[in-house]
Amino acid sequence: MVIFWRRLMKRHILFASALLLSACAAPPVTYETGIDTAGMDMTVKPGDDFFAYANGAWDKSAEIPADRSSWGGNAILAEQVDKDVAALIEGAGKGSPKPGSEAALIADFYKAYMDEAGIEAKGLEPLKPVLATIDAIKDKKSLSSYFGSTLRAECDVMNNTQLTTDSLFCLWVAADFDKPDTYAPFLMQGGLSLPDRDYYLVDSGRMAGVRDAFKLHIEKVLTLAGVADAKPKAQRILDLETKIAGVHASVDDTSDPAKGNTHWSRADLDTRAPGIDWAAFLDAAKLSGQSTFVAWQPAAIAGESATVAATPIATWKEYLTFHYIDRNANQLSRAFVDERFDFYGKTLSGTPQLQERWKRGVAATNAALGEAVGHLYADKYFPPASKAAVQEMVTNITAAFEKRVDALGWMDPATKKEAKAKLAVLKVGIGYPDKWKSYEGLEIAPDDAFGNIERAAMSISDQKIARLGQPVDRGEWVMNPQLVNAVNLPILNALNFPAAEMQPPHFDARAPAAVNYAAIGAIIGHEISHSFDNNGALFDSTGRMRNWWTTEDFAHFTASGDALAKQYDAYKPFPDLSLNGKLTLSENIADVAGLAAAYDAYRASLGGKEGPTVGGFTGDQQFFISFAQTWRYKAREAAMRRQVLTNGHAPAPYRALTVRNLDAWYAAFDVKPGQALYLAPAERVKVW
Ligand SMILES: [Zn+2]
Repeated sequence: MVIFWRRLMKRHILFASALLLSACAAPPVTYETGIDTAGMDMTVKPGDDFFAYANGAWDKSAEIPADRSSWGGNAILAEQVDKDVAALIEGAGKGSPKPGSEAALIADFYKAYMDEAGIEAKGLEPLKPVLATIDAIKDKKSLSSYFGSTLRAECDVMNNTQLTTDSLFCLWVAADFDKPDTYAPFLMQGGLSLPDRDYYLVDSGRMAGVRDAFKLHIEKVLTLAGVADAKPKAQRILDLETKIAGVHASVDDTSDPAKGNTHWSRADLDTRAPGIDWAAFLDAAKLSGQSTFVAWQPAAIAGESATVAATPIATWKEYLTFHYIDRNANQLSRAFVDERFDFYGKTLSGTPQLQERWKRGVAATNAALGEAVGHLYADKYFPPASKAAVQEMVTNITAAFEKRVDALGWMDPATKKEAKAKLAVLKVGIGYPDKWKSYEGLEIAPDDAFGNIERAAMSISDQKIARLGQPVDRGEWVMNPQLVNAVNLPILNALNFPAAEMQPPHFDARAPAAVNYAAIGAIIGHEISHSFDNNGALFDSTGRMRNWWTTEDFAHFTASGDALAKQYDAYKPFPDLSLNGKLTLSENIADVAGLAAAYDAYRASLGGKEGPTVGGFTGDQQFFISFAQTWRYKAREAAMRRQVLTNGHAPAPYRALTVRNLDAWYAAFDVKPGQALYLAPAERVKVW
């Protein structure tokens, strides 16, 4: 699920974000070589700056569209996919679809969203019922009940990574780490409007500036909604969020499954996290029947609950009023949409211009009716021949990965056996799910954009809550087929490769093998290797959280991870800001292992010969240049800083530098000691 207001902190997915885009032509590619030679800068030596060598001319000439905070290969593809999806959505409304059919739901949803005049005419009307409920809160019980009513199953630490929410708590419904055949409720921290606790707590001029702008944003939102005394209320709301931030766990700790698997009984909520009226909260959250919860950040849950009790109810009502309006601002009149964009788009991400309405309409429809739209997309854009071709690459890369496991000199046979057992049952989803989600019973009206979005979000959450206690479905998908991305689901030991990801520049039937293996091949390898990265190492072939390593092997694995973290800690996008090697470790391990497996599979596909030299580039050169070109990317400073602070992925230009860890890259480009990217053989990290 990708929706506008959410702060995305993705971990196991492939890219930092894949929102909407604006017009820009795809780069010219010569199909003779399959690489974009015009986008390269051949005056740069590959060993000095490989990203610039592969992408320098593109980097100099490409401009980030005004409605985006970043731009690059994935964005250019996602731009095309959005246009294709918009045409499918518009097509769904033609020929009077049967009421209640998926085509009718899609058409009515989009129509309501695009009806700006109707939305404008309704003004503040859609907010009134819930604002009246907030106004009627009079004691701890009714306050707790309201908090419970805002709980949504919208978080997901390990899959389609969403670590938090602006509601007080967040729910993640996933397989229990201890009993992986059953779904369990994971309770997580929430309640902040800004992306992370650091935005409230770090004492720097930059963060102080964000806080001042945020306070002004609260004041403006309240004023637009006709709330009196907006200024002092804004101060109190910021103070309260700062208190919540003070009890939050860090993003590093939140991302660490070993730190999150704490099971609490229903009674533990009352004794370990006193403050909230938990009975009222759970009842309103439709969770009163649950006997066990996974308290993902126990100290934060206790701290937030204590904050509920220690803060005057009047202050909470101010906070809840602001949160409700702010969360729903994109479905209100233009003044609210503009104000929301002004703060979250411009100030927090540095994006100058709001996207056109149709693009926001496509995003909202994807969020509300993802698989209904995805079904149309897959039918039209992902033919069986493409599915078969990608399936064959998956088989070859899995085989290459298995060979690498066999060849590891340091690994004990017992650990190898466990790793291979995991590989043998890996469930690889290509294009779209085997079974489509049902939207039966969802009420969508052609004149109620606000209500449609609320009901769709509630329905998605309700479907997840209904799974609690039920057997786990390993065929579940967490990404829509029309999303340019890919994901590993570590507890399910499964992969999703959406149909939209398998389009040029990632996969193209016309391109040479070197290029397809470096592009979609490295992505396939990346996702496979997540089953064996620092998080995947915690789960066995059944999805149970169990250490399947010998002590010596795990120590060796951890040491390799530490070395890779140091490599990324040394990259500095800005003089005052380095990458966080620990935060991005899981992704960086997947990049190294994925590229290595893809390279092996490419070489195996040549049957012992060298790949053909085309346009002056050897097969290996084409492979590595193509890999670096899939990571072409530029971002505005605010967005780049935000990604470095909160995202589990290194910014794309640094991901291109994964090549430093492969011996074959040194041979392909004659990289020598003394060059900036040179690593001595012992410093090259080979995790798998
Ligand atoms: Zn990943």
